[in-house]
Amino acid sequence: MKYPVYERFYTWQGEGVHLGRAAYFIRLYGCPQACPWCDSAGTWHPEYRPAGVTLMSAQDLADRVAQESPAGAFVVITGGEPILFDLAPLVNLLHTLGRRVHIETSGIAPLRGALDWVTLSPKPFGTWPTPDVVARADEVKIIVQVPQDIQAGLDTLKGLRDDAVIWLHPEWSKARDRDMAVLNAITDAVKANPRLRAGYQMHKLYRADELDLHSDKRLIPLGGNTELGY
Ligand code: SF4
Repeated sequence: MKYPVYERFYTWQGEGVHLGRAAYFIRLYGCPQACPWCDSAGTWHPEYRPAGVTLMSAQDLADRVAQESPAGAFVVITGGEPILFDLAPLVNLLHTLGRRVHIETSGIAPLRGALDWVTLSPKPFGTWPTPDVVARADEVKIIVQVPQDIQAGLDTLKGLRDDAVIWLHPEWSKARDRDMAVLNAITDAVKANPRLRAGYQMHKLYRADELDLHSDKRLIPLGGNTELGY
């Protein structure tokens, strides 16, 4: 089988528990969730369709990872919605290279492949994550566009392990514009429940991903613009 690769790039992880660590990103094409603030809208939005998507085999991708990043850099498979694909062949090959493999997903289908780390970003207004993926999650990232999104995200997490980390991330345009209603809601939630952590997308500050030859340079976050989003 071949994977539809929207972009791939070597950079560092900009959020979550592994923040700041060197990582090779593989972004697959396609997502049915249609989030109005999607910051990877080129992977699904009809108005932002790329000119082409590269179909690559697991072996092609593993070769690229080996050529384009040093040993020790882990791999993040993201999207789009990567859980829609059978990732087992790719994960197995990357493991033979000694790479740890992470996934970022909204958890809407069975997870295929022995992923080493699962970041779950539930979409309460769309399809909820399956119980199996919730139970498998190592960390959760709840995107907060309005304060009510915090509880809505938490409501999707029945069965989450006690040791899974829960991040509250301001939706990117809210962070950029310092929307204090959203930022203060996150602060209040973290202070009320120490299980929660306040998050931030550090790579957007550095614009680190854009430095790689193979990354998509188009800046197309929907940014909460419901006229652009769905
Ligand atoms: S934010 Fe993620 S889940 Fe939502 S539309 Fe974009 S790629 Fe899909």
